[in-house]
Formats: sequence, C-alpha cells, structure tokens
Amino acid sequence: ADLPSGPLDVVFSDLHFAYAGGRFALEHVDLRVPAGTTCALVGRTGSGKSTLASLISRAVEPERGSVLLGGVDVLDVDLQHLRSAVGVVTQRTEILAGTLAENITLFEPLAREQVERAVAELGLDDWVAGLPAGLDTVLGPGGTTLSSGEEQLVAFARLLVRDVRVVVLDEATARMDRVTETQVVRAAERLLAGRTGLLVAHRLSTTERAEQVAVLERGRVVQQGPRSRL
Ligand code: ATP
Ligand code: MG
Repeated sequence: ADLPSGPLDVVFSDLHFAYAGGRFALEHVDLRVPAGTTCALVGRTGSGKSTLASLISRAVEPERGSVLLGGVDVLDVDLQHLRSAVGVVTQRTEILAGTLAENITLFEPLAREQVERAVAELGLDDWVAGLPAGLDTVLGPGGTTLSSGEEQLVAFARLLVRDVRVVVLDEATARMDRVTETQVVRAAERLLAGRTGLLVAHRLSTTERAEQVAVLERGRVVQQGPRSRL
C-alpha cells in the first residue's frame, strides 16, 4: 500500500517488541502523534526510546501490535516508499567520503539550488560559509572532520532536501559546545516545523516546541501529555 498524501499522523497501537533472545524492549505501547506535531520521548538509558523510534522506518518489526502512518500499517508499505516519507536521524550519523553537498544529497542528482535552500532553511548559511570550501568542503577520510553536532546538521539537511513528512530524531548524547548546540536545536526546530516528529530528547531545550511528551520506563509509556503537565 501507499501512504496517503499530506501530513501523516503516527500511531503506535498495543506495540510489543523484543530483540532476538531478549525480554520485551517495548510492551503495551499506545501512543498517537497527531499530524504536524512533535512528540518528545524521554526516559532513562535503556528504556526503549531508540527502539520505539526505529519501528517507524521499519528498521525493526513489531512482535505484536502495529505502527500506523496516516492509518496505514508500516508493514504494508513498500519499503522504498516508506523511507522516502520517513526521515531518521540516529545517534550516529554516517559521513561519506565526498563533499558536504554530496553528503547532503547522498549523491542523488539534485540541483545545487535545492541544497542551498535546505541549508538556508535550517539556518546554516554561516556554518557552511565558515567551512574551508563551503558546500564543496571535502569530508570523510583525509578531509575535514565534523563534530558530532555538525554531523547532526548534515543529517538534518539530508532529510530536508528529500522533504520527508515524518521526522524521527534520536539525539546524540555527546556533549556539544554552546554554539553548536544552539545551531542544532534551532535547525531541528526548523526541520520539525510542519512535519510530524518523534524526538528522542536528552536535552530539555529540544523538548520545548514538542506539543506532547511521552515518558518511557522499561519499555512502557508511563506518562504522556502536554509538556506543561509533566
Ligand atoms: P539510550 O538513552 O541509552 O539511548 P534507549 O532508551 O534508546 O537508551 P534502547 O536502545 O531502545 O534504549 O534499548 C532498549 C532495550 O533494548 C535495552 O534493554 C537495550 O539493552 C536493548 N537493546 C537495544 N538495542 C539492542 C540490540 N540491537 N540487541 C539487543 N538488545 C538491544
Ligand atoms: Mg537510544
């Protein structure tokens, strides 16, 4: 099946998941993220946040229950179509050997202008201008090394040029300097604007624009509601 067009809501319904040989990493998870809004996932390390996030793009498949996007079970969606609609930023961004522009397009033949627009939309013009050769800066082995925060900025730009409809951000836990952190938070806000977002948050600052917060504890959602109530 294809996903409906337009904004998509994300629904986890009585979701259970276990890694091979392990106990349930997620149990009885019911959660709805309305289209165009952001839900922040918080909870201690090992509580299941990344696992829950990875079910949306079908990086792993549920044991029981379902994940619905716009009412369609992700298991019924063609994987390529699913991944064009859902963008995931994991705790580790892979930087390829190539220029910054190539790392943003992932070597797809996109117009330079599209890349420039994504960079501007994320508020990253100054950051790019500060690199040795701007968008043509060579990254990867032998090239310029990015900090983990900067790698996240690249990951955001990758999703923006593809214009994904659902954004899953699993924040890196690595410490960032203040300038990079401000850039990352602001770029994430811009990426999430108008899209449906699931945000695994380690910094309180990034939960600020989330309409909803869900607290995970040992694979269960123990609290959920508007940020103001928690
Ligand atoms: P963190 O805040 O440290 O990123 P998390 O909330 O994202 O933690 P998960 O990574 O989802 O937690 O892990 C949930 C549970 O599943 C943990 O008990 C973890 O040990 C286990 N787990 C995670 N990944 C795997 C894996 N690939 N194989 C087996 N068990 C795993
Ligand atoms: Mg995690």
